[in-house]
Amino acid sequence: MVIEKNKVVTVHYTLTEGTAAGPLVETTEGRDPLAFIFGVGMMIPDFESNIEGLKAGDSFAFGIQAANAYGEYDEAMLVDLPKDIFKQEDGSIPEGLLEIGQVLPLADNQGNHFQGMVAAVADTTVKIDLNHPMAGVDLFFSGNIDGVRDADQAELEHGHVHGPGGHHH
Ligand SMILES: [Zn+2]
Repeated sequence: MVIEKNKVVTVHYTLTEGTAAGPLVETTEGRDPLAFIFGVGMMIPDFESNIEGLKAGDSFAFGIQAANAYGEYDEAMLVDLPKDIFKQEDGSIPEGLLEIGQVLPLADNQGNHFQGMVAAVADTTVKIDLNHPMAGVDLFFSGNIDGVRDADQAELEHGHVHGPGGHHH
C-alpha cells in the first residue's frame, strides 16, 4: 500500500535546520512514530508531496525552503506593546515575564489567542516577535515510513488518527 490521500501514515523522522548536518529541531527516534492522515491538511504540503507514493520501509531525505514551511521571517511581525498591559492588579510585572526569549500567550481585541516572543524591553514598551518560532528556517527531514493503512470512517470524520501514535478516546 502506498501513501496517498486518506491513508494513515506512521513515520519516523528527524528534523534538522537547513541540512542533514544542521542543528536538531526534533526527532521521533526512541519514541512512537508520528501518525497522521495524509492529504487532509495536517502536515506541511511540501512534506506530503515528498513522501507521496512511498510505502512502509521506504526512507526519505529532503529539504523544504522556509517560504514553503513556516514562512519567511517578517520584520513587520515585530510589534511594540505598552509594558502596562503586562502589569498585575498590584501594578507590578511578574518576575521573569518580560525576559528576552520568553514566549507569552497573547490575545487581540477580537479574542484571538496567539503567542509572541519577547524580543526587546524598553522603558515603557516591549517589542514582541509574532513570527512563528521556525519562520525563516529551512527545514531538512530524514527518516523512514513505518506504516501505511486506510483511515477508517471515524478517523476521517474526526480528522485525526486513532490508536497508536494518535488519539485514544
Ligand atoms: Zn477521534
